[in-house]
Amino acid sequence: MQTSFTLTQLADPDIAVADKILRACVHCGFCTATCPTYVLLGDELDSPRGRIYLIKDMLENDRPATADVVTHIDRCLSCLSCMTTCPSGVHYMHLVDHARAHIEDTYRRPPLDRALRALIARVLPYPKLFRWSLLAAFFAKPFAPLFDRIGLKPLAAMLRLAPSTLPPRAHGGPQVFPAQGERRGRVALLTGCVASVTAPQINASAIRVLTRHGIEVVLADGEACCGSLVHHMGRKEEALAFARTNIDAWMREIDGAGLDAILVTASGCGTTVKDYGFILRGDERYAARAAKVSALARDVSEYINKINDLKVEPRPRLVVAYHAACSLAHGQKILREPKETLSKSGFVVKDVPDGHLCCGSAGTYNMLQPQLATALRDRKVASIAKVAPDVIAAGNVGCITQIAAGTAIPVVHPIELIDWATGGPVPGALGRPEGAV
Ligand code: SF4
Ligand code: SF4
Repeated sequence: MQTSFTLTQLADPDIAVADKILRACVHCGFCTATCPTYVLLGDELDSPRGRIYLIKDMLENDRPATADVVTHIDRCLSCLSCMTTCPSGVHYMHLVDHARAHIEDTYRRPPLDRALRALIARVLPYPKLFRWSLLAAFFAKPFAPLFDRIGLKPLAAMLRLAPSTLPPRAHGGPQVFPAQGERRGRVALLTGCVASVTAPQINASAIRVLTRHGIEVVLADGEACCGSLVHHMGRKEEALAFARTNIDAWMREIDGAGLDAILVTASGCGTTVKDYGFILRGDERYAARAAKVSALARDVSEYINKINDLKVEPRPRLVVAYHAACSLAHGQKILREPKETLSKSGFVVKDVPDGHLCCGSAGTYNMLQPQLATALRDRKVASIAKVAPDVIAAGNVGCITQIAAGTAIPVVHPIELIDWATGGPVPGALGRPEGAV
């Protein structure tokens, strides 16, 4: 694609990156077929190619975002299915991230949208505050249909997604979990924000599996939310602040007792941590350390898959529908490893038909775009039902919450199943299946 940025514009490193990405696009349109919003809406402007044109036009003309552009960019899930399909290697993720930051800088959203986004940005990344907000959501939950009727659909969606019971508190604060037996490695585990409150059992399982197999696990002092929630809303400076906080926390461990890897159990967060090197490339103080942290970042499934002597014990051979979270499959190109480890752990693993299509979770998307998100969730749940699983496994807490809201089939993180198969407790969502110990 030809671009016409001026030399002055190209002096801005972010525009230079956008220019390179835009030039790689050859307008072939292959990406439209695998884009969930194009599949649902059939509008070229809700396809990757259409959005690329909108972004090009906005950036080349150095124009503030218009309401029309915002509508189509907001509908994008950042699922990155288009990046998997694109034969020209167009880095859509960095382009849409740039567009979202441009929108945040140049467009004034309607008051309700602004308030909702501010609420998400000020509450969700902070576990203590988020926990309190869930308590409030518990009492407000019965009013979700009322909020729907008066047009406050995102608020209604938030209440519907809030858990009906508050999970127990997770391991709080910095800690070291020693390896059992001979120590074979030492890793940091990102505690995370939303997952640490709504699904603390996921990291608990990861810690048990790792320590059981000789890996010491540290929850680093001072770590925070990875920044992806605000990053995807275009709140660049807030995202950078979270990234720097985590880099400082992990670098203290790297320079101290050392780390073999930085593990993440929520793939949406993992994709962002792996991108710290890019997003901080222009920061003289942090660029090198950010690149180091990104190079050490691994999804937990990548790391566990390298353990050759999994201590598998006999368990019922449950059929597991593996839902490939977009951030893991498209964002990190990890598809084989979680399925392989589940198979090695004794489960019968089935792919979900049309697995490349997002479930509609996409970070805060299911709160901000509830109608599209629900349509995608219903489609996903129907596809999953075709493989008649006993349980659904997904490597991202957002997908787990989203899919669980639309099906009676239990939904867990693969690490919970691997934990159970190697001597841990039965995953809570499974109850006690026949033959379980
Ligand atoms: S990221 Fe997903 S929703 Fe957005 S344009 Fe690409 S395929 Fe479509
Ligand atoms: S598949 Fe790639 S090159 Fe083709 S239109 Fe989409 S982004 Fe452009």
